[in-house]
Amino acid sequence: MYNYGTDRCWFEAAFAGTTGRPTVQPLVVCAFSDAFYAIIFLATAMTDLHFKPIEIPNQEPRPDFWKVRPQEIVDLCERTSRCSRKEILARTPLGHPVYALFYGDFNDAPPQTNWSAGSSSTTWRNYMGDPPPAKQTFLLLAGIHGAEAESVAAAVNLVQCLETGADFRGKAHDGLVNLISRYRFIVVPCVNMDGRFLSPDHLRQADWQTFRAASQGVWKDGSPIGWRGSKSWFPLPLEKVAFPGGYPNGDGYNIMHDATPGDVRTAEARGLLRLAARWRVDAVLNAHSCEYASSVLAPSAVDVPANAARANAIADRANAAIAAAGLNPRPPLRGRSLSTRIDLNTLLSLASGALALTLECTVSYDRPLKPGAPEPTRLYTFDELMEPVFLSLHAYLADGLERPFLHRCNDGILSD
Ligand SMILES: [Zn+2]
Repeated sequence: MYNYGTDRCWFEAAFAGTTGRPTVQPLVVCAFSDAFYAIIFLATAMTDLHFKPIEIPNQEPRPDFWKVRPQEIVDLCERTSRCSRKEILARTPLGHPVYALFYGDFNDAPPQTNWSAGSSSTTWRNYMGDPPPAKQTFLLLAGIHGAEAESVAAAVNLVQCLETGADFRGKAHDGLVNLISRYRFIVVPCVNMDGRFLSPDHLRQADWQTFRAASQGVWKDGSPIGWRGSKSWFPLPLEKVAFPGGYPNGDGYNIMHDATPGDVRTAEARGLLRLAARWRVDAVLNAHSCEYASSVLAPSAVDVPANAARANAIADRANAAIAAAGLNPRPPLRGRSLSTRIDLNTLLSLASGALALTLECTVSYDRPLKPGAPEPTRLYTFDELMEPVFLSLHAYLADGLERPFLHRCNDGILSD
């Protein structure tokens, strides 16, 4: 259902009469021409900045395999037994554990140098180890933005598959599991557990305003913070918001943009960077969601040229797979395009030399790019909402077996 009506009217009406109260439980009600929604922001005890999850009444129930609630993620991670290693990378500001699960041989000693020095030393083995890991190391990140549940659902199902032979739908993913077995594979099923805690199970069929409110939150005056608006702050000033959205962590930090060298603020980002450096990560798939059809984004220009060129080729391969599966009618061809974006992928590349790409799943529709554009004809199923993660991962892993992601595991000795 689409309604690009005036955001301000919607939110101002929603919050009318709720100002000036130290403890606010605003009932947000809006009437559209063809729908009637009530959204309850249970933003209680705002004076101590504790927020409760957003609820979207009359939201369609999630299917059983869509396990994206923090306790479900923790329960799954705690009962894993086939992974070779398990770590809690960080504790979030709200106290949630952030798990990393390792599949493959992770018995190698820590690097004797860091990637910055090691990549310039007499041999890259000083960083990679001697011998270096027998397999390349791949890192799958899900849910850095907690409102974006699709990658979390996919990662949770993938973990279930690696543990039991089938995901929560009973699907075996034989080809993907075989590819994963040829790597050292690390998966973080949900980076932003705080944001996930505040977010609904999904945003399928949510209208534009609800999507924005759930994702980037609402100011105290009732106006939406917005996607770009949320990036005006680091951290988001929680004392000024009625609801912070599931985008940031519990302290208001957008973990994806916690990317200032020397001033990394969040335990979540620090944990990921330490992990990448320690385990000599070669490639990263950083999975998100957006309101449009799925695609892998162009790599950042802030990288070594070889990484950028290679990442472009992999993005095209993944996007072709997404299009072939009928999950994007307008698949982007990245070609040689580069993004000026600087984010956590940039720092992950600096930490271990890794190739890093961002995937955007869709939360619901093939939504028009502009207000007033023709209505979309495609509403994706819950299965299809997860599928871009599996397809991109497959394309990425297959590419790395045809040619190593990075040329650093050779025996080349550099002269002084
Ligand atoms: Zn995101």
